[in-house]
Amino acid sequence: MKLHEFQAKQVLSRFGVAVPSGVECKTVDEARAAHTKLGTPVTVVKAQIHAGGRGKAGGVKVVKSADEAAQAAGAILGKKLVTHQTGPEGQLVRRLWVEAGSAIEKEYYIGIAVDRESQLPVMMASSEGGMEIEEVAATHPEKILKAPFSPSKGLAKSDAERLVKGIGVPAALQPKAVEFMSALAKAFCELDCSLAEINPLVTTKDGPAGPAVLALDAKINLDDNALFRHADLEKLRDLDEEAPLEVEASKYGLNYIKLDGNIGCMVNGAGLAMSTMDVIQLYGGMPANFLDVGGGATAEQVTAAFKILLADPNTEAVLVNIFGGIMKCDVIAEGIITAAKQVHLTVPLVVRLEGTNVELGKAKLEKSGLPIITASDLDDAASKAVQAAKAAKAAKGK
Ligand code: ADP
Ligand code: MG
Repeated sequence: MKLHEFQAKQVLSRFGVAVPSGVECKTVDEARAAHTKLGTPVTVVKAQIHAGGRGKAGGVKVVKSADEAAQAAGAILGKKLVTHQTGPEGQLVRRLWVEAGSAIEKEYYIGIAVDRESQLPVMMASSEGGMEIEEVAATHPEKILKAPFSPSKGLAKSDAERLVKGIGVPAALQPKAVEFMSALAKAFCELDCSLAEINPLVTTKDGPAGPAVLALDAKINLDDNALFRHADLEKLRDLDEEAPLEVEASKYGLNYIKLDGNIGCMVNGAGLAMSTMDVIQLYGGMPANFLDVGGGATAEQVTAAFKILLADPNTEAVLVNIFGGIMKCDVIAEGIITAAKQVHLTVPLVVRLEGTNVELGKAKLEKSGLPIITASDLDDAASKAVQAAKAAKAAKGK
């Protein structure tokens, strides 16, 4: 689950992470009032969407009066912001965060992710703040300093000091930067984050309490599997930011991700889903989604999954690839039949069943009278699905 920048800042500040003060706004008038309320000569009007790169896309505007704040809000609210992370269709801006402007001395990058190799969270820091970190990693990997840390012990002070020095934080501000890093590491572990990024972390020239170290941007992704421990965070979920079919899928506990292709896939097991997608591509097709119905799906879940696949207008054929183990083939068959009765089946359906209760499943499908194309193995299924999608497309074109 992703948080908005303003939510991330509010949550992080509870851990002592320094952030500018700000106000969440949904209208032009609220933005105008927010500037006045903050009382700083400069405020920054920032689009709140679940994507970065807002600055370059015109979603972050520095303003010097309440009127300017209103003007900036008017220009951003209700617009589709296209950033390198939204895809070409962009993301509609429904909320703003108006925050106190900072006199930036220098921008840095700080982030924590889980490192698969060491199997630990790893603190990363770079002097190249404000830039895309992926680009820094590709062109100047030596400019990213790293320190893995144990979730139980937290980030070692000596490691934080090494990083802070290494990225060139001025000596006078190093203790504050070390404190900042430790607070971020603590938040990362306690909130069960999968990612926490501050880009940019800045040092400021002045301010009421002298120069400071502040998070000007904040990105937090939470581990969905740990959300049951954080009822307060779960409330922050913004369904407007998620693809509608993905929201629907999550209601039924399905692992679904929408993709750009035309072949809808229903598979049990994430590994099998990945290989199914690969083989579809091998035969010249493109998957319309990733969908893992899981090991113990019920007929109801399968029905929901099937409806979701058919609700995607890009779907030109559906490929069901089930390897029955805990998940029994006859349950899948029942789900398919129920769903196909409820939703008019307008695209070709290729089914490959194998494993527990396979005969029973196949018999059920046959008896249903549905126009199903059966396949013997994954290769056969993928090539048939690609062919069927092509034929369906050609027929539509006529
Ligand atoms: P994004 O990463 O989506 O582009 P950021 O929050 O990082 O959005 O903002 C982009 C840039 O805008 C920052 O790198 C910083 O230079 C500037 N900026 C953001 N917030 C402030 C602020 N409160 N005061 C001054 N400058 C800011
Ligand atoms: Mg940023």
